[in-house]
Amino acid sequence: MASGGGVDLEEIPSVDLMTELLRRMKCSSKPDKRLILIGPPGSGKGTQSPLIKDEYCLCHLATGDMLRAAVAAKTPLGIKAKETMEKGELVSDDLVVGIIDEAIKKPSCQKGFILDGFPRTVAQAEKLDEMLGKQGTKIDKVLNFAIDDAILEERITGRWIHPPSGRTYHTKFTPPKAPGLDDVTGEPLIQRKDDTAEVLKSRLEAFHRQTAPVIDYYSKKGNVAQLHAEKPPKEVTAEVQKALA
Ligand code: ADP
Ligand code: AMP
Repeated sequence: MASGGGVDLEEIPSVDLMTELLRRMKCSSKPDKRLILIGPPGSGKGTQSPLIKDEYCLCHLATGDMLRAAVAAKTPLGIKAKETMEKGELVSDDLVVGIIDEAIKKPSCQKGFILDGFPRTVAQAEKLDEMLGKQGTKIDKVLNFAIDDAILEERITGRWIHPPSGRTYHTKFTPPKAPGLDDVTGEPLIQRKDDTAEVLKSRLEAFHRQTAPVIDYYSKKGNVAQLHAEKPPKEVTAEVQKALA
């Protein structure tokens, strides 16, 4: 059978093809959405993103995940970003703007996207608006994960991640079924190098100084929804659903 893009469709089990077909049919009736998730490290953006992604058939673009992948692969971009990330400071605007400019053009972002961890400076927000303006689109909603700093150290130091899927666990709040292993695949979970109390201090400092002004920037445009990110995950999900309805 003819193959598309190097993939031999005959090799894919029928049940997988049917599942994908049904997903695409369901997605075709969903409205397009272009969302920004903004909040300090540990506020729950990565936890809520997969739920929003599935509900609205969006792509999830987390600049932190993309940069960590570049660091692991030792690409020129990763080599440039590594030291800054380890210190908990922000990498240059040009670097992340370039990544996002390329990523939002992917076919998986056709129905829209969730930007998680971007924009993190007003300059990044202005560049994003410019990029979207050229496409004739704009940001529909900014979800502000508002939370007190005091809660974040426990969240960050207890976080465990399954990098291939982006699933996130917490030793106390959402522990995996078996310690250190992903519930779905049984693969090992990892802790991020910058998820320490020490590096968190710089990350929070960067958030308040450079990223909080981005919330004001979008508030002036009138499309920010406030979430109570200190609430339990299910209650935050309910607030997200209400904000996006
Ligand atoms: P972010 O992506 O904003 O940095 P995460 O979604 O990775 O934050 O959440 C940080 C940690 O806190 C993770 O270990 C996650 O399991 C946990 N967590 C996320 N949301 C909540 C919540 N509402 N209540 C308690 N713990 C949470
Ligand atoms: P995160 O996974 O969102 O916590 O990001 C991890 C690190 O990646 C940050 O501490 C920054 O060093 C870097 N980073 C991620 N996104 C951005 C961004 N939009 N602008 C600048 N630096 C970023």
